[in-house]
Amino acid sequence: MSASRGGIAVLPFRPIPDSPDGWRDRSACRDEDPTVMTPEPDAYMTKKLRQALTAAYATAKAVCAHCPVKAICLETTLAGERGTNEYQRAGVAGGLTPDERADEAVSAVALARLRGGR
Ligand code: SF4
Repeated sequence: MSASRGGIAVLPFRPIPDSPDGWRDRSACRDEDPTVMTPEPDAYMTKKLRQALTAAYATAKAVCAHCPVKAICLETTLAGERGTNEYQRAGVAGGLTPDERADEAVSAVALARLRGGR
């Protein structure tokens, strides 16, 4: 079941996968309210709700922006989402929205940029 934040549905979990080696424990979102990272688009969104979703994504991306494990997060999330559809991807992870992660060109550029920064 999803909750709501500013009229935008949110999911009460983090989208990023488990991290057996503990990288998730070093993440910038580890102490965030999980719903901050998981604003959800709605098929019937009004213009106002679409603007709210954009703002919610920006808030989540701001958390990712200073995350020390952003590269491994994006890498792991993309691997886990390989072969999934739009209904199986949720929330911001590795600094990208679900649609951005689904776009191979966008995610490849982001990943290359992050790997270069290691
Ligand atoms: S990149 Fe974003 S979603 Fe991934 S661990 Fe860091 S803060 Fe969390």
